[in-house]
Amino acid sequence: MVEIKNMLSERITNMATSATLAMAAKARELRGQGKDIIGLSLGEPDFDIPDFIKEAAKKAIDDNYSSYSPVDGYADLKQAISNKFKRDNHLEYGLNQIVVSTGAKQSLANVAMVMLNKGDEVILPAPYWVSYSDIVKLAEGVPVEVPTDIESDFKMTPGQLEKAITPKTRMLWFSSPCNPSGSVYSKEELQGLAAVLRNHPDIFVVSDEIYEHINFRGRHESIAGIDGMYERTITVNGVSKAFAMTGWRIGYIGAPDWIAKACTKFQGQITSGANAIAQRATIAALEAPVSKIKYMIDEFHKRRDLILSLLGEVEGFQLNVPEGAFYVFPDISNFFGRTLNGTTINNASDFAIYLLEHANVATVTGEAFGNPNCIRISYAASEKEIREAVARIKAVV
Ligand code: PMP
Ligand code: GLU
Repeated sequence: MVEIKNMLSERITNMATSATLAMAAKARELRGQGKDIIGLSLGEPDFDIPDFIKEAAKKAIDDNYSSYSPVDGYADLKQAISNKFKRDNHLEYGLNQIVVSTGAKQSLANVAMVMLNKGDEVILPAPYWVSYSDIVKLAEGVPVEVPTDIESDFKMTPGQLEKAITPKTRMLWFSSPCNPSGSVYSKEELQGLAAVLRNHPDIFVVSDEIYEHINFRGRHESIAGIDGMYERTITVNGVSKAFAMTGWRIGYIGAPDWIAKACTKFQGQITSGANAIAQRATIAALEAPVSKIKYMIDEFHKRRDLILSLLGEVEGFQLNVPEGAFYVFPDISNFFGRTLNGTTINNASDFAIYLLEHANVATVTGEAFGNPNCIRISYAASEKEIREAVARIKAVV
């Protein structure tokens, strides 16, 4: 018999598995074995989709939205996105500057594939969202991590940005509110970064604003709105988080038209237009006043306060005060070198596995986000689960 060798490409062999999805799968598996796991690993709202969005989807089915959509999205959805950019972000994006994709994840992958050449450097203030570095590498770019810490609220300073820039720097990617740190850049902080970029006109920015509405600080600021940045910013957003539509898979960009055109060309060869029914439902989501989803934001705010006060009582956990998204990102490096219940903790991964095995609580190691001193805990869970999870953590550390 002919022996079949493993013929997988270097591309996939070198790619890391998404740590967030992997931890969620592990939690699911353990639950299947009868273990009582509290899953705080996946960044996913635990609310039901608002009824008015469900109704729009049902209507779309009845109205026979069953054919291929335009690759870049229905024109009336793009109009709703354009209106949303104007209403929420004071940004003017015409329909030729908008591309709708299968989740913001695909929007990010499109941008990497159309903007990067082999060896182009992409600055990632760390901690960064888990998939950025592998998406950049897939496009043959080189992620350049800029480490930040809890003292600076996990935000990159203009000085750090300046220092990271080389002749090969092509882009800066960041999220605000940030997954995983929950940090929110103020207008002044964005102006500081923009002032550095002004001297480097070849550097483009990916501003991932998918958590824009989950912001407890008040107004959300878009870097594209700052002088000189609009022409070289790709603003990424989507409906997964604010509208609890993670499984519906709709994300979008607003960008210079030549970038939007290239993303459409790329997407046209790999996935075509995003799901037609989800696109119709997204029109309803984006046309609704933000007040319609405020109950979810208020609830996240309450849970943020709750988890901060509970974790504040756990010895060894250092916390910043996240002002957005639905994560806390405690520095747990105090535990490194210590042995807990016979397990030696050498790094954040050991700690996350320890919590899973001894406390039955799933979190994600900070290593996946480019910060080896922290773990990420999602508080998109019920108050009861949050209380129980922290009590369990406290008992095992
Ligand atoms: N960016 C950030 C910062 C995220 O946390 C996520 C997580 N879902 C995404 C992008 C991708 O979102 P989507 O579900 O729209 O693909
Ligand atoms: N963005 C979410 C997270 O960070 C969902 C998981 C994913 O898409 O990787 O947990």
